[in-house]
Amino acid sequence: MSERPYELVIRGASIFDGSGAAPIRGDVAVGGGRILAVGEVGGESDRSLDGSGLAVSPGFIDVHSHDDFAVLLEPEMPFKVLQGVTTDVVGNCGLGAAPFRQAAAAAAAFHPGRRIPDYEGYAGYLALLDREPPSLNVAALVGHGAIRAAAMEDPSKASSLAERDRMRGLLEEGLEAGAVGFSTGLIYEPGRNADTAEIVHLARALAEAGAIYTTHMRDESLRLLDSVRETLQVGEEAGVAVQVSHHKAAGRAAWGLVRDSLRLLEEARARGLDAAADQYPYTSASTILAAVVQNRWLAGSPRGGGGRAVEAAEVVIASSAKRPEWDGRSLAEIGAGRGESAAATAQRVLDEDPAVWVIVHLMDEGDVRTVMRHPTTLIGSDGIPTGGKPHPRLCGTFPRVLGHYSRDEGVLPLEEAVHRMTGASALRFGLRGRGFVRPGFFADLVVFDPARICDRATISDPRRPPDGIAHVFVNGVEVVRDGVHTGARPGRALRRG
Ligand SMILES: [Zn+2]
Repeated sequence: MSERPYELVIRGASIFDGSGAAPIRGDVAVGGGRILAVGEVGGESDRSLDGSGLAVSPGFIDVHSHDDFAVLLEPEMPFKVLQGVTTDVVGNCGLGAAPFRQAAAAAAAFHPGRRIPDYEGYAGYLALLDREPPSLNVAALVGHGAIRAAAMEDPSKASSLAERDRMRGLLEEGLEAGAVGFSTGLIYEPGRNADTAEIVHLARALAEAGAIYTTHMRDESLRLLDSVRETLQVGEEAGVAVQVSHHKAAGRAAWGLVRDSLRLLEEARARGLDAAADQYPYTSASTILAAVVQNRWLAGSPRGGGGRAVEAAEVVIASSAKRPEWDGRSLAEIGAGRGESAAATAQRVLDEDPAVWVIVHLMDEGDVRTVMRHPTTLIGSDGIPTGGKPHPRLCGTFPRVLGHYSRDEGVLPLEEAVHRMTGASALRFGLRGRGFVRPGFFADLVVFDPARICDRATISDPRRPPDGIAHVFVNGVEVVRDGVHTGARPGRALRRG
């Protein structure tokens, strides 16, 4: 026999194949960037990795990331690959990577003071990733906010037909370049000024391409159900699959509504619409303080507070480039002794630094579990790759679901948890050849210890890497070895189809 030996065989591990099936004990052989054999693997190998007591699964797919520019500025992406993420879907919540000028302006809130290398359109963005690959694979969504800002004279207004067509042209450029879908952020400027008809008009372009519509909905609080209905309307009128981003019921008055919102998704599925959601596994949210104020979430907000009353102690500064001493402090601490409302403190903070990120304690633990248990919920981090003290979901999401929620709390079986961050995610976002441990698939793999895996990132120490992730391979190349980043950057720009 003159057959070449396998480059790597992981031997005697519990194989979670990404389908949700119970694990089997066996070997996984890798060569040429692909999985070559699964099961009982004979033959020679250049390297043999003892998998006894360990699990091997497909690499995790973060369907909800904001790493559009992080993958260029920090291509080793340690905060993701150390938790086992091998593919990032970027461009969520209406943010996106192109047109460059508008996208880079929005990205200033993520990467203040950093110069971002420029490019033309999504074709240029993906080509730049081909030339300067990060450590993980990247699939892109076209962001509504950026194309709206580029296509409109005054993006704070409703769009004209001509402007909608200009937006649609920019969206089509992205889809032709290989974007996997289109996202909106309907609480943010300028997306919040779009009506449903504008979104349906744009989403029709997705139907032809077979791409997905994802949305940070207009209201995740008392109007949660109206927002889900709007999302389903877009899906049904445009004939596209819809994905509710970071599904939650925000604010005490809305707690429990996720039972109804999930029922709405189920009913739509029964009617034939492909509708689902994703989630990060925490009861606190994170966003820009400007959006908290603009959507009148805070106690003491003018004009009735929009039905919500988040208290000053429940809003913690995650990252302020201008006043780093604020990082980790709540609005209550910053306003202490001044006798002002939470809204007034927030305004004072924004006057000094309009790009402040915050963590907001908003959700009910029971709701988080209800959403997680639902069979259509995928896992996505919604991690914000800022400096300061970002929300711990940036570094902890995937190990937290596997360790805390699956193993320790029994919210869902481990094979099901793996499925919702691998195979189910790949199918939903059209990532062909990924998400499963099967011969012929790309060798995106995680080797982890199911007894030890856990998140260790906290609000006060948010960049602490997880425990229990032993090895991570991207396209067959080891990016994490014995829990340490190897420095390798074998990621690829993934294009639809
Ligand atoms: Zn969002």
